[in-house]
Amino acid sequence: MHQYPLIIDGQYNIGSICTSQQCAAGRGSKVAMRWINSNLEKTDYTFDELNNESNKFANVLKNLGFQKGDIFFTFLPKSSEQIFSFLGTLKIQAIAGTLFSNFGEESLLDRLGDSKAKGVITKKSLYKKILSISEKLPELKTIIITDINEHISGNVLSYSLLMKEASGNFDVALTSADTPSVLHYTSGSTGKPKGVLHLHKSVLLQNYTSKHILQLNENEIYWCTADQGWVTGTSYGIIGPWSLGVTQIHFGGAYDADIWMNLIENEKITIWYTAPTALRMLMREDSSIFLKHDLSRLKHIFSVGEPLNPEVINWSRELLKKDIYDTWFQTETGSIMIANRPGLPVKSGSMGKPADILEAAIISDEGKILNNKQVGNLCVKAGWDSMFRTYLNNEDIYNKKFKNGYYYTGDLAYRDEDGYYWFVGRNDDVINTAGHLISPFEIESALLEIPEIAESGVIGAPDDILFEKVVAYIRLKDQFSWSDDLEMNVRLRLANKLSSIATPQEIKIIKEIPKNKSGKIMRRVLKAWYMGTDPGDISTLDV
Ligand code: AMP
Repeated sequence: MHQYPLIIDGQYNIGSICTSQQCAAGRGSKVAMRWINSNLEKTDYTFDELNNESNKFANVLKNLGFQKGDIFFTFLPKSSEQIFSFLGTLKIQAIAGTLFSNFGEESLLDRLGDSKAKGVITKKSLYKKILSISEKLPELKTIIITDINEHISGNVLSYSLLMKEASGNFDVALTSADTPSVLHYTSGSTGKPKGVLHLHKSVLLQNYTSKHILQLNENEIYWCTADQGWVTGTSYGIIGPWSLGVTQIHFGGAYDADIWMNLIENEKITIWYTAPTALRMLMREDSSIFLKHDLSRLKHIFSVGEPLNPEVINWSRELLKKDIYDTWFQTETGSIMIANRPGLPVKSGSMGKPADILEAAIISDEGKILNNKQVGNLCVKAGWDSMFRTYLNNEDIYNKKFKNGYYYTGDLAYRDEDGYYWFVGRNDDVINTAGHLISPFEIESALLEIPEIAESGVIGAPDDILFEKVVAYIRLKDQFSWSDDLEMNVRLRLANKLSSIATPQEIKIIKEIPKNKSGKIMRRVLKAWYMGTDPGDISTLDV
């Protein structure tokens, strides 16, 4: 089959590379997406249809007055509308942000407010959350709702009505490599979440790594389980695979081992990209579930988001007769940076080696490049094609992430004598629960808004399934005491404000939150208390 060059006539537009360019290359009638909803009903969309639907959405936004550089978010669970609107937004060179559908009001306000988003597409049940904060979002002019048949008002509009009136033809303007494209918010251990802004040229590396690491070519049938609210869902659930003309399975249902194995068997999935938490859950299922399915077409399993335990790889080798290839990247890198892949022997527990066109290094806090086996900051040589362009409204913090030509990822790792990288941990307090980064600061702030709570400190603690669970230490105001009702109230408030993933698995009531003399919560001490280990130097503790 003819291999067309990815960038034709200087057109970097991700929306057109994933759709019209695929049609021009002769794939118009090929299935781009088999959408399978939670009732297991299937709808196929060819590349022609993907092009047409995203063109229509581009026209919808254009007719509503959206322009290049405006920010438009999807706030939807996995759905075909999310995909069409994401690609349509990119086609008009507006910036496509995605919001995890589980987000509560505060999480939404932080992201929609900071980015000054002009529009959002959502569904009726989620619209309520936006409505409750809309007064604080003066720039948010347009809300499009996927499951209403009539417009509610001049700016709360029906998707189906708008799409019915829109043309399926849209000429995508020539888009330069450096045009802003995708926006994802990520949590740090201090401050509010930060908007990680990518450029259209990110498609080059998403395409390259999809091909050379995930082994995608146009004959594969590929399933990425990630939600489009996060970077894996956009980089490897939309952009990389469709830039290669690959047929993707998109499944809107929740985790269910039997259904998942059915999907792999019946849809003849050949390449599967998933996450350690899901794999650990599968490992606990009865082996008969796997043995009763014919999984022989599945060639490769890849994993991302959290450390992949050697036990999971061993389980897969024994039961599924396959390695699992761990891959490492983050929102800021936009593409896989370090990975195991076919052709490279898997060292269980290691993240693998950097992609062959990238350079990684382990660097000390003082900026010294460290030798093999020395633990330090995991860094990537700046300048890779999918490097984020900035943290929106936070250029200073962005600049501080780069030193001497290297980007500091915030992870600690070491490299062994064979060039494999091994994850050690984060060098901040960010919690990674089931592959989602959670800021302890955001949970602590949300807890402090509860009238009964005087102080709180939040940490991540090891968990067999989730990698880390959220543990909240709380000091109540003197006049209050802990009760089941209060606990329920705390959980509900956090779920509604932040998201259910930010709701603590454990809450511990204590008399004093350890803080240093300048009042900073010493989460390190809380963690040591939790783990029953030595808290180390506590000379700065304010006691
Ligand atoms: P996010 O930006 O939300 O995608 O999260 C990125 C972070 O998840 C990384 O900085 C790591 O801390 C963690 N992470 C991602 N992939 C891996 C992996 N394969 N092994 C260990 N940690 C990982």
